[in-house]
Amino acid sequence: MLRIALIAHDKKKDDMVALATEFKEILKDNQLYATGTTGGRIIDATGLDVHRFKSGPLGGDQQIGAAISNNQMDLVIFLRDPLTPQAHEPDISALLRLCDVYEIPLATNDSSARIMIQAVEKGLINWREAEHGEDWKQLDI
Ligand code: PGA
Repeated sequence: MLRIALIAHDKKKDDMVALATEFKEILKDNQLYATGTTGGRIIDATGLDVHRFKSGPLGGDQQIGAAISNNQMDLVIFLRDPLTPQAHEPDISALLRLCDVYEIPLATNDSSARIMIQAVEKGLINWREAEHGEDWKQLDI
C-alpha cells in the first residue's frame, strides 16, 4: 500500500476526476490524500476514501510537502496547468522541489500520471514501501 497525493489545478480537475475514475480499482488499494478541492471532486465522482488537506492556495501544497519531508508520502500526482499563473506558485515550486529532494515519484501531467498508476498496479514502486518507517500509518494530519 502506498500513500498517494492527488492534486490538480482548476483547469485540470476534470482530467483528475477522469483519471481517478478510470483507475479507481488500483487507487482504492492505497492510502489517498489530496488538496481540498481536488479531493472533494474525486470523492464526489468516485466515492474513493480520500483524506483532504487544505485547498492548495490555502496551504494544502505545503501540507503535502511537509508529509513528504516526514517520509509520509510515497507518490505525487500533480496535474498542473502550465498556462495559467497561480497565486501560490511559491508553494507549488516548494512541493516539486521536495519531491526531488526525497526522490518521491512525481507525475505532473496526465500521460505521466497514467504510467505512474500502472507502475503502482505492477508493484514497480514497492521500493517505497521499504522506506516506510514503523509509524508510517500514524500520519498525523
Ligand atoms: P485545490 O488545490 O485542490 O484545493 O484546488 C490545488 C492547487 O491549486 O494547488
